[in-house]
Amino acid sequence: MRNQLRIGLCSLTVVLWAACSEPPAHNRLHSDSGVDGPSYFAIAEELYNLASERQNTVSVEEYGFLSESEHPLLGVVLRSPHSSQTSPSSTQNRALLITGATHGNEYLGFEDRLPRAFVEQITAEPQSGLARWVQAGGLIYIIPIANPYGYSRDARGNGRADLNRDFPLNRVSHEGLRQPETRQQLAWINGRLEQDHAELALTLDYHCCSRNRKPDLIHPWGYSDRPQDRRVPAHHLSHANSLGALARVALGPIDFGNTIDVLGYPAIGASDDHYFETHFEARNADNPGMAFTFEGVRQGSGENPNVLSEHISLWNSWTTALLETGRNSALTGSL
Ligand SMILES: [Zn+2]
Repeated sequence: MRNQLRIGLCSLTVVLWAACSEPPAHNRLHSDSGVDGPSYFAIAEELYNLASERQNTVSVEEYGFLSESEHPLLGVVLRSPHSSQTSPSSTQNRALLITGATHGNEYLGFEDRLPRAFVEQITAEPQSGLARWVQAGGLIYIIPIANPYGYSRDARGNGRADLNRDFPLNRVSHEGLRQPETRQQLAWINGRLEQDHAELALTLDYHCCSRNRKPDLIHPWGYSDRPQDRRVPAHHLSHANSLGALARVALGPIDFGNTIDVLGYPAIGASDDHYFETHFEARNADNPGMAFTFEGVRQGSGENPNVLSEHISLWNSWTTALLETGRNSALTGSL
C-alpha cells in the first residue's frame, strides 16, 4: 500500500512536472542517430507505469532533478520478486548497469524500452539468462536516458558540457563530476550497490554512431593513444573477448576493441574507463569484470537498424555467461 502510494505520488510528480515544463508529448526532432523517440515525459510515464504494474520486480527511482530544465533523473532497478532486498551483508549480489543517451542525441530507439522487455523476458522464459540472473539474486540497473536535457533538445551535451568527458579517472587525475547528471549518476549507483550488497558485474553505455554500417563494442582503455596506456589485465581482456564473441552471435558483425582501435581517437572522462578503473581493474582472475561502450548504427531512410530483440538476445547470452563465471556462479539455477 505504501509502495502504491509512493508510486502514485511519483507518477503525479511526473505529470505535474510535464505539465509545467514540457510541451505536450510529441515525437522529438530527428537526432544524430536518426532515430526518433518519445518525449522524455512519455518515457518517464511509461517507466512509472511499468513499476506500478510490476511492483515486486521493478522500481523507478528519481536520483536527481535538473532544476534549470526541470527534468528528473530516473534510474530503474530490476530484481527477482523472490530475492530479498535486504540480503545479509555476507552475500554479494551482482549487478548489471545499462545507461543510454549519455550523449542526448544518440538515442538508439530501445534504451527506454529495455526495462519492460527485460521484465517480459523474465516472466515468459524462466530458463532464459535474464530470468536466471535475477533468480540468482542478480540486479539490473538501467538509466535509459542519462542526459534528459540533451535528449529533449537533440543535443550531445547537457547545455554546458559533454557528459562523457565528465567521469572521473584517477590514473590521469581527471576529477570530472562537474555536471549534476554525472555526480548524481555515480552517487545513485554507489548508493544502490551499498544498499543491495552488490558489486557491478558488467556495465554498458549505449551511444551512436559507428563509422561502419555495423555496431561497435568498445572496451577500455580510451583515455590515451599511447600503447603502454592501453593495456588491460589479461584476465579482463579475455573476459571482454568472450563477451565480444557472444555479441557477434546476437547482433551479427560488430567492430570490437578499445577506443583507439575502433574510434581512432582518445577521450578522457568516458564512462567505460571510469567504471572499469573503479569497479573492475583490481579484481582477480576468478572475478573478472568489464565496462563497455556500445556504438549503434545510424538510421538511414529505412528501418531502425538497432533492434530491441537482438539486444534482448545479447543480454540473455551475456547473463548466461556471467552466471557461469566469477562470484555467485554457485547460485546458478537456485531459487
Ligand atoms: Zn556518444
